[in-house]
Amino acid sequence: MNKPDIAIVGGGLLGRLLAWRAAVGGLRVSLYEAHDRLGGQATAWVAGGMVTPQAEAVDAEPELVAMGRRSLSLWRGWLPALPKPVHYSESGTLLVWQRTDAGEARRFATLLRTRDPQANYQCLDAQQLAAKEPALENRFREALFLPGEAHVDNRQLLPVLADALDGLGAECHWNRRVEDAELPDASLVIDCRGKSAKSRWKEVRGVRGELVRLHAPGIELRHMIRLLHPRYSIYLIARPGGNLVVGATSVESDDCSPVSVRGALELLSAAYAVLPALGEARILELDCDCRPALPDNRPAIRYTPRLRLLEVNGLYRHGFLLSPAVVEEVLTILPQFLANPDSELAASPRWPSLGARKAALAGDRPSSPDGKEVLICR
Ligand SMILES: Cc1cc2nc3c(=O)[nH]c(=O)nc-3n(C[C@H](O)[C@H](O)[C@H](O)COP(=O)(O)OP(=O)(O)OC[C@H]3O[C@@H](n4cnc5c(N)ncnc54)[C@H](O)[C@@H]3O)c2cc1C
Repeated sequence: MNKPDIAIVGGGLLGRLLAWRAAVGGLRVSLYEAHDRLGGQATAWVAGGMVTPQAEAVDAEPELVAMGRRSLSLWRGWLPALPKPVHYSESGTLLVWQRTDAGEARRFATLLRTRDPQANYQCLDAQQLAAKEPALENRFREALFLPGEAHVDNRQLLPVLADALDGLGAECHWNRRVEDAELPDASLVIDCRGKSAKSRWKEVRGVRGELVRLHAPGIELRHMIRLLHPRYSIYLIARPGGNLVVGATSVESDDCSPVSVRGALELLSAAYAVLPALGEARILELDCDCRPALPDNRPAIRYTPRLRLLEVNGLYRHGFLLSPAVVEEVLTILPQFLANPDSELAASPRWPSLGARKAALAGDRPSSPDGKEVLICR
């Protein structure tokens, strides 16, 4: 093969998706991934795989919500083009809360209305909720329903993307770690190493997240469930084969060591409070990894002409929510750098903040960087 147009370093979620879409678009692509084609070492392997722009709107800027909406439509269009099926469901999110936390629900609805001009949610009473999600067995008197929100089976997706790359003749180097000083030979190199990129991009930090995978064949959840709670805002997602994902803790820490007792107890207690039938579920896995984040918790692209190096990072807790929109944007700006490697990165055409945030990226980290505070969210 001639020198590739792009060499992507890091074949987790972003790297694989970008490699696939670039190859579909006719670029010569090589991909270098430190681990195997399964993707078991990527943060994307641990994740919940939710694509929930509305549920995130209360904590994210309107541009991220809009990117999430764009990603939803991209997932919908892209996944059927893969060589094997990947479980994807747009069943929507049900938000439930204990009676004492009704204030959380009011706060959520108010924030959603003010931050998301396209907000579309339904208030359900106990009867409507029982009809929509019988598994909750009348435990909640009210709920909010966010239609159309999605989840993708992350563990099916990663190896199927590897198959798709093979099918398109992309050059995949599995089990091949690339060091900072040894960039592969290509017209342009794209660094998609997630949390491992901090050796080059100093502001990248990890945000620890823990998650539990359960086998609960008797429980049929039709929607993603989120518990609105001032501290334990867990989510539950049904996966094929009677499995359930319960996530996730969030701690300002680069510590990716195994799940703590506190994390496991908090996740499982909150899940059990939502669905007592989970008492008989079996624990398949307790998983932990660190989300790759930048100081403002938004994704960013930067370009170094001297190295012909594009870096894309900061997907934070929004990898599945945002990566299709980010990939689409990278593919829009790539021709400029392939044609003229000395050009400067300007504001991205569709999502201005992706490419022009030097000042913001030099800012302080968000609060509580001491790693002590555990906030359960995602
Ligand atoms: C508990 C938890 C739950 C989450 N749930 C969700 C969710 O529901 N929805 C959502 O949108 N997001 C979620 N996320 C976030 C999402 O997983 C991340 O945003 C996403 O995986 C980041 O993608 P990435 O490609 O940047 O990094 P990764 O997926 O980590 O991929 C980076 C890849 O680079 C490789 N690599 C590293 N160094 C090198 C090197 N030197 N040479 C070659 N390869 C290298 C790694 O092996 C890895 O495969 C969750 C995260 C966690 C931890």
